[in-house]
Amino acid sequence: MELNICHMYPDVLNLYGDRGDIITLCRRLNWRGIDANVTRLPIGEKADLGKADLIFIGGGQDFEQQVLLEDLHRGKDREIRDAAEDGVTFLTICGGYQMLGSYYETFEGQRCDFIGVLDLYTVGSKDRMIGNYSFTCEEESGGSTVVGFENHSGRTMLGSGVRPLGRVLSGYGNNGKDGTEGARYKNVFGTYSHGPLLPKNPAFCDFLLLTALQRKYGTTELAPLDDAPEISAHDEMLARFSHQKNHG
Ligand code: GLN
Repeated sequence: MELNICHMYPDVLNLYGDRGDIITLCRRLNWRGIDANVTRLPIGEKADLGKADLIFIGGGQDFEQQVLLEDLHRGKDREIRDAAEDGVTFLTICGGYQMLGSYYETFEGQRCDFIGVLDLYTVGSKDRMIGNYSFTCEEESGGSTVVGFENHSGRTMLGSGVRPLGRVLSGYGNNGKDGTEGARYKNVFGTYSHGPLLPKNPAFCDFLLLTALQRKYGTTELAPLDDAPEISAHDEMLARFSHQKNHG
């Protein structure tokens, strides 16, 4: 068995070690004897996203999001939309997540018209939302508690065509107001969680892998791994900032 993983814009959307998510996805597949074939897709290069089983897009600053706009609208936007509608699993982080919405407008008023595969939009704010945070995934997205790190000025508002990935336990989440974090549409997952997200959240990583394996092979469960170190790191972070204010 194998999964084809496409890492989009690794050259520009690579904040806060988000490529660690790719490393974690590959390790947790390999530890189960499943091959992981990673294709990097920088600006200007082409790849058949229809061959991908899982697509990863990391985060970036306002400037980087504007840099990739032209490349995105040269056809990758249509390919992303087609893959999403076809049930391909996506993990998108912060700027990569915002990019799947209708638009991102910076605090200075610079508007980036994005893909619109997720029914949401984002507006930059004067104060950045920065810090460790935690959220509980909705049951349909595995129900695990996630610990992470967020750093964004964008406040994301969800429309009726998309569900939250989870509910904020501590920190800001989508906008620091409505208590939602991230978004889910079909097998597209968006979150503000940098860090990288997956090493300290093995349950959520396995949930993502299972959505891709289920679509490709009908797999319904993954062999258990000894996650003691990962769970220890997860629980330590959860305890360390569980007192933190919930801005949601
Ligand atoms: N530039 C976007 C914002 O500030 C995304 C930031 C990021 O990817 N960390 O909201």
